[in-house]
Amino acid sequence: MRPSEIAQLLAGADDAGLFSAADALTRENFGTEIYLRGVIEFSNHCVNNCRYCGLRRANRDVHRYRLSVDEIVSCTALARELSLGTVVVQSGDDYTYTREDIGRVVTGAKEQADVAVTLSLGDRPEADFLYWREIGADRYLLKIETFDEALYAKSRPGLALADRLDRVEALRKAGYEVGSGIITDLPGMTPDILASDLARLSALDLDMIAVGPFVPSPGTPYGDAPAGSVLTAFRAMAVLRLLNPLANIPSTSALNALRDGAREQGLTVGANVIMPSLTPETVGGDYAIYPGKNALRADAASRLAAVRAAIRRVGRTPSTAVGGSKRRRHG
Ligand code: SF4
Repeated sequence: MRPSEIAQLLAGADDAGLFSAADALTRENFGTEIYLRGVIEFSNHCVNNCRYCGLRRANRDVHRYRLSVDEIVSCTALARELSLGTVVVQSGDDYTYTREDIGRVVTGAKEQADVAVTLSLGDRPEADFLYWREIGADRYLLKIETFDEALYAKSRPGLALADRLDRVEALRKAGYEVGSGIITDLPGMTPDILASDLARLSALDLDMIAVGPFVPSPGTPYGDAPAGSVLTAFRAMAVLRLLNPLANIPSTSALNALRDGAREQGLTVGANVIMPSLTPETVGGDYAIYPGKNALRADAASRLAAVRAAIRRVGRTPSTAVGGSKRRRHG
């Protein structure tokens, strides 16, 4: 698809055609199954200062927490009890946890829960990536946020796009299933930047691709910026599905933060994955990348039951499968 065609679709040239083509392609490759990944947000500390993110170092309004290695491993066991095949072990860029600490999480999750382990820990050294992969970590998520160099530098002060791309490459070489993604309507993002971001994201040939709308977070420089558009995010997801037929594409919780029910609706425009939070009740509300993410403080089981019901509401089937990358299996 040419960049000009992507731009037209993002502008709403043919929403009905775009959404139904993306939906048909998703069903063709995944049937009605929706893969579930249980997310464990184990620390909301971060050394970075991304201007859009509630966890940024300079945000004094956040009550910070860290879970112990044992607590994280028990969350992975909970995932297994709740019939989830995959856990996503996620934090800000928090180097308090050593390579070995995370290693114990990976081995603990494998021994106690036998789940696929996705790590989402930000910018770690390549040696860490290799170590965790060798002891059994399956996947790694490292979002790019935008491929526009100037916008990247502005949004993520002190960090460089080239370094992030190098890390994505290092993860691939280490043998992970690699996931990445962008934020639609990030302040400063133009329609042209978004069209180009979708093309470049697809060119990375990733196993998992996430696109979520910008949600303003209090206590950040963008706290008063306008929220992203759910419709733009849907169009971006649908375009990504057309460009990446076999990739796992989640419908993000950021959608629900903007409009109740938008996350399940995302399953009808190209997404085939939902990532419910398994973070313990005592800390879940503090993992505030944006408000509302963990506002529903029901226990993990009832949260999951609600997610499964939402999936069924849009005619899909909650899967208990590990849901590995089809892209890899098909070469
Ligand atoms: Fe830290 Fe990630 Fe938030 Fe940036 S986006 S401040 S790296 S948690």
